[in-house]
Amino acid sequence: MENQQRDFQLDEIEKNKPSQEDRILSMLQLSAWVCGTSFLKEYMPTYSQRIAGLRKKGYDIKSEKCDNLQHTHSGNVAQYKWNDYNGWCNYETWNVALWINNDEQLYKFAKKCGTFKKFIELIYTHYWSHVFAENFSLKIVEIDKIRLRFDVITMDGVSFKDNAINKKEMESMFQEIYGG
Ligand SMILES: [Zn+2]
Repeated sequence: MENQQRDFQLDEIEKNKPSQEDRILSMLQLSAWVCGTSFLKEYMPTYSQRIAGLRKKGYDIKSEKCDNLQHTHSGNVAQYKWNDYNGWCNYETWNVALWINNDEQLYKFAKKCGTFKKFIELIYTHYWSHVFAENFSLKIVEIDKIRLRFDVITMDGVSFKDNAINKKEMESMFQEIYGG
């Protein structure tokens, strides 16, 4: 019985532990360039796979050969830098979030939608997107007039459907908008 309880507690601790990706991000947030060996020191031997995973999710993480003369490693060890935009994972996510938060009408509309998914569905509805373009800070670009294909972009030219937009970050922003 006691053992079971302890196992349960360990499971809970395991579940609430920050993931390796979270830990990598917080290390990257603390300094401009982080040497790969720093992740090894934090017991993350598979850090390069984790970083590849983060890049896939849209995190703008640059890498180059570490040339820190104070480092004792030899050979090709990379160092990494996360180009975060005020805490957003990349430029595209930051830009779309910026426009939604700064246009009063767009913000109100986002609040009504509740989720980013719903928001995207609606602004890409042909009729509504044209109504929105007249009233909100967004632009419609015709891609194919005959087939009525179009894209919706911010005033800075970022598509609301850009693959680089981090869905997780957008959905938590929408949760905050919805709750606030
Ligand atoms: Zn180094």
